[in-house]
Amino acid sequence: MSPPLRHGRYIPAMTGALSAATIAQAPKVLLHDHLDGGLRPQTVIDLAESAGYRNLPCQDAADLARWFSEAAYSGSLERYLETFQHTVAVTQSAEALARVSRECAEDLAADGVVYAEVRFAPELHVEQGLSLRQVVDAVLDGFDQGTTGSIGDGRWIRIGVLLTAMRTATHSKEIAELAVEYRDRGVVGFDIAGAEAGFPPTRHLDAFEYLRRENAHFTIHAGEAFGLPSIWEAIQWCGADRLGHGVRIVDDIDMSDPHEPQLGRLAAYVRDRRIPLELCPSSNVQTGAAASIADHPIGLLRRLNFRVTLNTDNRLMSGTSMSREMELCCEAFGWTLDDLQWLTVNAMKSAFIPFNERLDIINTRIKPMYAALKEAEFATTKG
Ligand SMILES: [Zn+2]
Repeated sequence: MSPPLRHGRYIPAMTGALSAATIAQAPKVLLHDHLDGGLRPQTVIDLAESAGYRNLPCQDAADLARWFSEAAYSGSLERYLETFQHTVAVTQSAEALARVSRECAEDLAADGVVYAEVRFAPELHVEQGLSLRQVVDAVLDGFDQGTTGSIGDGRWIRIGVLLTAMRTATHSKEIAELAVEYRDRGVVGFDIAGAEAGFPPTRHLDAFEYLRRENAHFTIHAGEAFGLPSIWEAIQWCGADRLGHGVRIVDDIDMSDPHEPQLGRLAAYVRDRRIPLELCPSSNVQTGAAASIADHPIGLLRRLNFRVTLNTDNRLMSGTSMSREMELCCEAFGWTLDDLQWLTVNAMKSAFIPFNERLDIINTRIKPMYAALKEAEFATTKG
């Protein structure tokens, strides 16, 4: 894994009461992670070499990790998205896609993730002649190898794939159809992503209506750089099951009396209906959606019992991991193992795999693993 970097500097993790070692062992569920945002720096260099891609800013893995993190700390979503030009450029072959998917599964498993939904946009990987289906097949193949290998190494993980359509393009219906075609082969849902301002989700209404008719699941990037209208459209017009980020829902919470926050109608609807928020603190700090982790609305939204989930978004660009996000939130908000379990169960409840399979992971993995960690913590405190 790349080292934790903030503004290009290594910051040692401080977790208050919870040790980094305990957090590392905690079982994790990740719903919002981009395949092209999570490449290993050395892999970017290797793949650039074999693809003859000459535009990387540097050739050393540590320097490249730092470059990605610094470039991503621009304060603008549009600049942030530019960093993906490199990772997308080097993943235009089936071999490259399978490798980055295998490594993604291995890295997540090593981080204690037991269930992840990883998303990518097939339409971005067809520049050198692959068909959309060949792209999806290569990714599924890589995840298969990575999960089988991790289980062989004693780390259990399951991965579901989300197919993403770019909101600035016009392929969303075709990608939605592809998601339905592959629904029994590892694809569990659909998403739209990309620059939010000027590209409301309702531009892709035909794709969402099609998915609803097919009883398929989808999430929508909304309420990240752009505010409440985007969230409202995603839920009330498009029928999103979950909100990718959705962090701007705080704009509909009146905090004039901090002891008694007043929810507006949209915020109340989101909370009442238990609509999952795929919150990504480090990513939001990078794009300027939050000033710092301590200022991030995840603390408030957790206190108000929204269906909060914790996510990485782009592990390479943010120099992060699930453990790192947990450490940062424990430090900022004083979260305990109870909070981490609550978030993890929330995420598992909100996954797109069938209900009985979600329940099985909660009951046979998440709860027993947290119970063991709490017992160990209790023994340490008592000792
Ligand atoms: Zn995202």
